[in-house]
Amino acid sequence: MKDFVKRSTKIVCMGRNYAKHAAELGNEVPTMPFYFLKPTTCYVEDGGNIIYPKITKNLHHELELGVIIGKKMTKVSKEDVMAHVSGFSVTIDVTCRDLQEQCKAERKPWSISKCLDTHCAVGPFISVDKLVHNNVEMILKVNGEVKQHANTKDMLFDVPALIEFITQHITLLPGDLVQTGTPEGVGPMNVGDIVTVAIPGVSEASFKIVGDE
Ligand code: MG
Repeated sequence: MKDFVKRSTKIVCMGRNYAKHAAELGNEVPTMPFYFLKPTTCYVEDGGNIIYPKITKNLHHELELGVIIGKKMTKVSKEDVMAHVSGFSVTIDVTCRDLQEQCKAERKPWSISKCLDTHCAVGPFISVDKLVHNNVEMILKVNGEVKQHANTKDMLFDVPALIEFITQHITLLPGDLVQTGTPEGVGPMNVGDIVTVAIPGVSEASFKIVGDE
């Protein structure tokens, strides 16, 4: 098990952080960041299986740059954020889209669509000095076909801004993961699919979609 996965106390997931993704789901572009949490029981590491739960009929991939916290952060300013970050990981925020839409329509919290076992897929740890946070190319493929291809320069709120915002009210601890939102191109995954995420030339991870036995 990766060190950060072992130490993590929470996963903070940003919503609607790319304008084209907000548009593809019919959402407004936010004027301030927003987030939700996943429990650490969601983690699945590269090479592992993502469970297709019986409760959904539309399991989606959301390719996201993960930021791994290195030092405790409470009320940290933008300028100081990166000095508290230990690394990155290429990740998938797995989402039961039909359940999420239902929760939104019924004005209920959407945990049931986001927080299930194996629904935070993480790739290898990448040391903070290996990437420039606001210029990271990311690709997600399903069975070898490119579904999402984006660059973090298109984020509405960059990594320092997101983490400054979170830490005004929630303390981030070493090992915690911030998923920084998905670009456009989210879509379905089915049982038997192989889903691959990559930061070209730096990191790659694959996951298999399996039924809930
Ligand atoms: Mg997401």
